[in-house]
Amino acid sequence: MILVTRFAPSPTGPLHIGHAFAALFAFDAARAAGGRFLLRIEDIDASRCRPEFEAAILEDLHWLGLRWEEPVRRQSDHFADYRAALARLEALGVLYPCFCTRADIQREIAASPAAPHGPDGPLYPGTCRHLGTAERQRRTNSGEAYALRLDVTRAMASVTGPLTFHDDGHGTIVADPAQFGDVVLARKETPASYHLSVTVDDHLQGVTLVTRGHDLLPATHVHRLLQALLGHDVPAYRHHRLLLDENGQRFAKRNRSVTLQSLRESGVTPAEIRRRIGL
Ligand code: GLU
Repeated sequence: MILVTRFAPSPTGPLHIGHAFAALFAFDAARAAGGRFLLRIEDIDASRCRPEFEAAILEDLHWLGLRWEEPVRRQSDHFADYRAALARLEALGVLYPCFCTRADIQREIAASPAAPHGPDGPLYPGTCRHLGTAERQRRTNSGEAYALRLDVTRAMASVTGPLTFHDDGHGTIVADPAQFGDVVLARKETPASYHLSVTVDDHLQGVTLVTRGHDLLPATHVHRLLQALLGHDVPAYRHHRLLLDENGQRFAKRNRSVTLQSLRESGVTPAEIRRRIGL
């Protein structure tokens, strides 16, 4: 089996040295195995993504020495694929419309002293999970905005478990998707969430090894459940360390001094970048 990896940046700002690490990590993994390396532009969130950042990303990666297969998959060109996945999940009866605003959710959480927390903060309290069919129908028909959430308990009950995935650093991990509660898979303004689009794309692109930062290991638990529901093959995972600055903080897009563009303009070479990040 040919190894296929990918780097999947979001064009919401300039790439910095932390991205260089993630990109080279994926690229080197493919090269070491004589495999294929893909680049994917994750621009689902139209309010934050800009074409000029996408152009700058391609330029930076090229300068770093990365080469990828064409065409580059741009998520905003593929909403039909995410809609098809949502339709499959809908047919399985594991989605429900959620009409809560952020303020509704905060109020509900504040009112319940023992609100459970997950990796991203307090879990959705499940308000709309209990709405009847007639009320759902009435509110969607009236044009009220809603998100689609995954009913994680139902979803887990509908798959034959246990669900596991393999991480090169951690071995076999039993997935616990419920730690995030009923995640949002689509919203009116963003018709596919990160969890949905990344899972669908890795499948459609035949990615066999997902490499990404350790901060995203919890998210893989949700992706594993989506793979089971959608009948996807399960890739291997290599969640890597995050590059930290001298204060032990993650590099941020707003920190201009470590953008690849400014490093390049100050005369730093790609070989020097590799040395700095330890690759
Ligand atoms: N677009 C995501 C990011 O930039 C990709 C994460 C992933 O590789 O799954 O964090």
